[in-house]
Amino acid sequence: MRRATALIDGNNFYASCEQSIDPSVAGRPLVVLSNNDGCIIARSAEARALDIAMGTPYFKVHKKLESLNVIVRSSNYALYADMSKRLMNILRTSSEQLEVYSIDEAFALLKRPSNGNLRPWAHQLRAQVYRSLGIPIAIGIGETKCQAKLANHAAKSVASLCGAFDLSAETDKDSWLEKVAIEDVWGIGQKLSKWCRLHNINTARQFRDMPSGKILSKYGIKGLRIQRELLGYECIPFTQKPLPKKEMCVSRSFCRPIHQLSELRQAVASHVIRGGEKLRQHSQVASTLTVFARTRELRPSSCKQAVTTQINPPSNDTSVLLDAALLLTEQIFDPSYAFIKAGVLMQNLDTTKFMQQQLFSVPKTNERLLSTIDELNSQYGQNTITWAASGLEKPWEMRRNRLSPAATSRFKEIPIAHA
Ligand SMILES: [Mg+2]
Repeated sequence: MRRATALIDGNNFYASCEQSIDPSVAGRPLVVLSNNDGCIIARSAEARALDIAMGTPYFKVHKKLESLNVIVRSSNYALYADMSKRLMNILRTSSEQLEVYSIDEAFALLKRPSNGNLRPWAHQLRAQVYRSLGIPIAIGIGETKCQAKLANHAAKSVASLCGAFDLSAETDKDSWLEKVAIEDVWGIGQKLSKWCRLHNINTARQFRDMPSGKILSKYGIKGLRIQRELLGYECIPFTQKPLPKKEMCVSRSFCRPIHQLSELRQAVASHVIRGGEKLRQHSQVASTLTVFARTRELRPSSCKQAVTTQINPPSNDTSVLLDAALLLTEQIFDPSYAFIKAGVLMQNLDTTKFMQQQLFSVPKTNERLLSTIDELNSQYGQNTITWAASGLEKPWEMRRNRLSPAATSRFKEIPIAHA
């Protein structure tokens, strides 16, 4: 039985999540802002139709958005992460293998039915996801990952395909590949696409048909792999489990400059608490910890501060990480600087599964306490239980004036349906 690869992708994912939890904004133009309500990072289909550009700073267009009656939301990452988890669970039950590629994208490995037609599968899956989550998705199918990516691009951009397209089922594949600009081929970066354009290779089809030796000499095996994938030979394997992280960073900008040590300590503590939680989620420990902070760039008094320490034995215990990080915070603090961002970087991560035992010291662990805290926070919402070091009021915290409720991950914020 022939196999097929599908790339499934949420349409305007952040904006769709917002529309899905609030029926009053469904079908209306909506934009989502980046951290600190800075720039537009997602637009609903209705906002795209109004020609609102991605990346536009909010302060420049807020009056225009108001006059166009556009709904504005601060980014609600708790909501998007939870919706992503739900989406991936549905996709997993509908495929042989699933590789989660990003928050709203996954590759699925499928068996083709005896008649070869995967369209009914794709349309049924789209309907199921929409019914369960209210999120529209696009499905592109091909023989390989590269082909699936191209098919997904077509599924999204050609309205008559209704969100699903099987490139392998097309008799005239060439004409589809002809329509795809070289920059839109998965894996071809800025440098290679520039080189291609210089050599008059402008489309996916031209890239597929160019001499392999030429690609090999310019871009090596990586370029050759893309060409082979476009021809229909699987060269980029499925990876079901992501590789363990080597480092982890938690950082945020403040809503206003910070001049006080107490506020910087609270901010760093908040990042360490989140970092510890993430380490435990991935069953990892850190042996190097860096605390950093910076002022605004391009100013005569601008500065970047960073100090590093070793955690020995390596740990994911928030109390251990906090002790180390708060000492470092005192070292980087200088009252003459107005810090606008701070963070923690944890490096040399290792798995907890094969940890070296200590001969002369018994590591201090609060495993049961930490797992209980993690469980409570996952059930009742982030920071239900936290460390006092992160502060109760957080006046420095990033601006999220238009935040929607954590409607799917916090009991208190579940929407109420009136019947
Ligand atoms: Mg998407």
